[in-house]
Amino acid sequence: MRLEGVELRRVSMPLVTPFRTSFGTETTRDVLLVRVVTGEAQGWGECVAMADPRYSSEYTEAAADVLRRHLVPALAATPRLDAYAVGPALAPFRGHRMAKAALETAVLDAELRAGDRSLARELGAVHERVPCGVSVGIMSSIGELLDAVAGYLAAGYLRIKLKIEPGWDVAPVRAVRERFGDEVLLQVDANAAYTVADARHLARLDPFGLVLIEQPLDEEDILGHARLAQLITTPVCLDESITSARTAAAAISLGAAAIVNVKPGRVGGYLEARRIHDVCAAHGVPVWCGGMLETGLGRAANVALAALPGFTLPGDTSASDRYFGTDLTEPFVLRDGHLSVPAGPGLGVEPLPEVLRAVTTATEWLPL
Ligand SMILES: [Mg+2]
Repeated sequence: MRLEGVELRRVSMPLVTPFRTSFGTETTRDVLLVRVVTGEAQGWGECVAMADPRYSSEYTEAAADVLRRHLVPALAATPRLDAYAVGPALAPFRGHRMAKAALETAVLDAELRAGDRSLARELGAVHERVPCGVSVGIMSSIGELLDAVAGYLAAGYLRIKLKIEPGWDVAPVRAVRERFGDEVLLQVDANAAYTVADARHLARLDPFGLVLIEQPLDEEDILGHARLAQLITTPVCLDESITSARTAAAAISLGAAAIVNVKPGRVGGYLEARRIHDVCAAHGVPVWCGGMLETGLGRAANVALAALPGFTLPGDTSASDRYFGTDLTEPFVLRDGHLSVPAGPGLGVEPLPEVLRAVTTATEWLPL
C-alpha cells in the first residue's frame, strides 16, 4: 500500500448534556480525525485524546503535534506499508498511544476498504450485534441522577455505570439500587479518584452487588489494586492502568484485575486491543469495551471489537444520541439494548459530508 498523504482534521461536537467525571466536565468533544489517502482507498481513524491531559497524559493538540512531527513522517519512510507494519514503524517513539491508534486505524480502514473486508471480520468478531451499557456522569443531586438512570433504562440500556468520586459513591449507588432493584446490572467507575487507604470506605459498596469497580486507584498503583482486591468483594476492573497486552498480563498475574476494560485508543490501536482480549481470554478474565465519547467513526470500530468472543460484559458502546444530537456518521441506534455490528468494508461507516463540513474547525494536509 502506498500512502499519498494524511489529513489531520479537527471537529468540534457539542454534547447533548455535560459529562462530569472525577477528573473534569466535558461540554464539547474536540476530536482529532486522521484520514489517510492511498492509491486505492481512504481510511479514517478517530483519536480519542481529550482536549486536556486529565484522563491520561495525552491531549488533542499534543496528538496532532506528534503525528505531524514524528508519526506520519515515520510511516512515509516505511517500505511495504500495511496496518501490521504501523506499530513497529512507530515503536521508536515512546507513548502517544492514542495518536498511534488513530493513525494505525486509518491505515487499517484504508487497507480493509481496498480489500472489501470488514473490520469486524478482520478482528475475529463472532456476533452481529453487541449488548450496550451506558456511562452516567456525576450529577449535582441524587434526584437528577435517578431521572437520568430512569431515562437510560427506558431507552433499553442493559447495564448502568455510575461515575463516582469521594463524596459521590455509596449514596448514589444505594439510591439507584433502591429505586431500580437488584436485577439491574450496575457498576461504578472512579477514574483513579481513591487511594488504597480508602479500602474500608469502598468496602461499603460490597453489599450492592456491583458487577465491578473500575480503576479506583492511580493508574500506576497496580499493587494497590491487588491489595484492594483482597479487602473488598466487588471485582476490581482496570481501565487507565492497562496500556498494553503486557501490562494486562502483569496486572492479572498480580491479582490487580479480575476484569479489564479495553479501550483501543489507550493501548495503541485495535490490533493491540485484540491482543489484550486474547491475553485476558487465556486467563479467564472477562473484558468489555470502554468508550471515550467517540463519534460514529470510533464507535463503529469499538462495536466491531466488542463483537469478539471474550467481550462477555456489556460495554460503554452507547448509541449516538447518548452523546450527540447529530453524529458524524449515520447514527448508531439502540435496538433491544443492542447496537448492530457494521458489516461493510473497513469501519463500515463514513462521515456524512455536510455534517463533517459543519463541525470541522481546522484541516491540515500532510503530503507524503
Ligand atoms: Mg473508566
